Amino acid sequence: MISVLKCRVLLLGVVLGYAVFGERLSSAADVDYFTDNGLDNAVASIQYPSAEQFNGKTYIAYQGPHEDPYVCLYDHTKQVWQGPVKAGVSWLGLTPDPTDHKDIDNHGKPALFVDSKGYVHVVFGGHGGLPMLGENLYGTPGSGRQIHAVTKNPEDISSWEVLDNIDPFGTYDQIVKMGNGDIYLFYRHGSHRSDWVYQKSVDDGRTFAAPVSVIKHKPQQSDPNTHDAWYAWFCEGKDDTIIVQYIYHPCLIENHNKQRVNVYYMKLNCRDGSCENAAGTSLTLPVTKEAADRLTLVHNSGTTKVNHGICRVDETGTPHMFFRSSEGSVRYTRWLGNGWQKPTPVTVPESKGQDGDMVVESPMVIWLILKGSRVGGGTEVCWWKTTDGGLSWNRESTLIASPDKGYGLSALVRNPFVLGRSDSPLARGQFIVEEDDYASSAVYRKLRFWGGTGFVGRPEAEAQVVHRHIEAEKELKGKVPEETPYQRRRARAAANVGED
Ligand code: ZN
Repeated sequence: MISVLKCRVLLLGVVLGYAVFGERLSSAADVDYFTDNGLDNAVASIQYPSAEQFNGKTYIAYQGPHEDPYVCLYDHTKQVWQGPVKAGVSWLGLTPDPTDHKDIDNHGKPALFVDSKGYVHVVFGGHGGLPMLGENLYGTPGSGRQIHAVTKNPEDISSWEVLDNIDPFGTYDQIVKMGNGDIYLFYRHGSHRSDWVYQKSVDDGRTFAAPVSVIKHKPQQSDPNTHDAWYAWFCEGKDDTIIVQYIYHPCLIENHNKQRVNVYYMKLNCRDGSCENAAGTSLTLPVTKEAADRLTLVHNSGTTKVNHGICRVDETGTPHMFFRSSEGSVRYTRWLGNGWQKPTPVTVPESKGQDGDMVVESPMVIWLILKGSRVGGGTEVCWWKTTDGGLSWNRESTLIASPDKGYGLSALVRNPFVLGRSDSPLARGQFIVEEDDYASSAVYRKLRFWGGTGFVGRPEAEAQVVHRHIEAEKELKGKVPEETPYQRRRARAAANVGED
């Protein structure tokens, strides 16, 4: 069978224990994962993109051993993989790798972009930044150090160097690349009690302007024990704009907890740096809690805990979003022109712990890729679709499911490879899936690349790499190598400052 499909795919049959091959026959020695050295929560949507396609190659970044950033690439034309290659050294990791998940920080996962010349960049390693790094002008220090690394050569992941051109006090890196090539690096400028900011580059990431604060942290006037703190998710909108979904965290000085409430939305105009709400009323940056409540509220959750999801626009520039809710299923809503549609649960109530991403096909047709609880135990990753603007949802397909494994999803691949395929919404729905095997106490995880129609296969001998790392760790006999950055990385901020 000759297929126009340029990537080798293995369908979920492999996972179910029998081999069903995709459009192109894979070698019998292929597995449906591309590496087994993801470390713990190796990808997540709040650090993104995890992957971007450039010139027929998809570059994938994830958290590997010692919480360092690792990069693989898949060449769609040659149908071969490269990597994993270590792209830098994180200050958050420990040596040797912990065996207890609680000792893994997980906040400094890499976000990746490819610049216009093909150099691959990652930003990683921050959980607010250690106090020793200087004065944090936009918040409270934490741990680690936000670092920017770039390949020494274009379209070549074999060698990397650090570019010392961004603030060290960052976490939750999110990179928005505009149609004109401008790059916006968004992040929280420290631990909980910090502003969300961006740094802008107009020269392919070689230099970045100073941070611009967009969401403000501060103590509440009436209750100094409560500090306004936030979680935010940024995405390119239409006509040179960036849209933002954000969630409020009342950060208590005494009796700190993980409460997060309410959902907010606003839009940045990149032409002049101004900001407005969904109705077009202009906002002063940085937005305060008071202004956010008055002008940008999407959903008042009361005391129900919610968490960030994804926001994207349709062809008219109208925002659509989902957010996570402690009551179960994610909630979807969209802007109707004069208000937000009443948020609707996307799945049945027992399906908890959902997260994923969204493809907006048209104002009324929206696809969600979600991981969630599987009936009978375990986890599944499914496409959900609405054709009535989100009032009702149907499960369209199950990509992977297991009674004894957990799955985590990255955000969608930026600029996914669709050459030679019908450019359907699902062909563009590409992402990374991490697998947590409940039967294993190991902190290492297999990672899969969903290429739009199946998992992209790889020869087993290439995909199995973590055993070599484990052997190398044994040889260290627990000793931290001399003269390595690892020695600097034990310091942690107080738990209530930098916990998440
Ligand atoms: Zn807090």
